[in-house]
Amino acid sequence: MQKVLIVEDEVSLRDGLRDNLEAEGYAVSTASTGKEGLKKGLEEEVDLILLDIVLPGMNGFDICKEIKSKKLTVPIIMLTAKAKEVDKILGLELGADDYVTKPFSINELLARIKAVLRRAEIHRAAKQKKIDFYEFGDVKLNFAELEGYKGTKKLRLSKREFDILAYMVKRKGEVISRNDLLDVVWGYEVFPSTRTVDNFMARLRKQIEDKASKPKYIQSVRSVGYKFVA
Ligand code: CA
Repeated sequence: MQKVLIVEDEVSLRDGLRDNLEAEGYAVSTASTGKEGLKKGLEEEVDLILLDIVLPGMNGFDICKEIKSKKLTVPIIMLTAKAKEVDKILGLELGADDYVTKPFSINELLARIKAVLRRAEIHRAAKQKKIDFYEFGDVKLNFAELEGYKGTKKLRLSKREFDILAYMVKRKGEVISRNDLLDVVWGYEVFPSTRTVDNFMARLRKQIEDKASKPKYIQSVRSVGYKFVA
């Protein structure tokens, strides 16, 4: 059974969400203050967190940042009252996975929850899948030997850069979030800024693209992440 943590201080909304999620077959845990939400988010084994923004004690932005810095792969859907907060929510700093704007319909929220959980599953599956060899354009990558060529030129790629490329190849054609990429490369070790991912992509482009300034294979997807196309 998948478990959802609801962090929401409005009693009627919190109870309504809990009842609906339980009826859908989810296990539910709840928190009514910022502090409690942070504690449960960090300590409990949850598959997804629904996080209100305006909360007593500590706001949802700070909670999201704190949880993501320790448990990068736990999906977080923010519940927001203001459409103007959207950029911040999905932006680089915070790293939330999705949001719904209050008032929302329960069906809309359930659909978002399912989509976010499915993305998390796709990420896990891709991480585990093995790939030894891949070729595109004039690039040949041997992931087993950590060796690569562009034409006749040997690529100078680190183990981490090979890991990123392997992961992107496995999810070819899909939009991949910076959080997913961070998780592949760094896991729980440390939490570098998502900009670190951008720096890695810039280096990879220099190696594999014909023209790094006009990338064909590693494409940017605005405010989300990247897409590998070949
Ligand atoms: Ca609130």
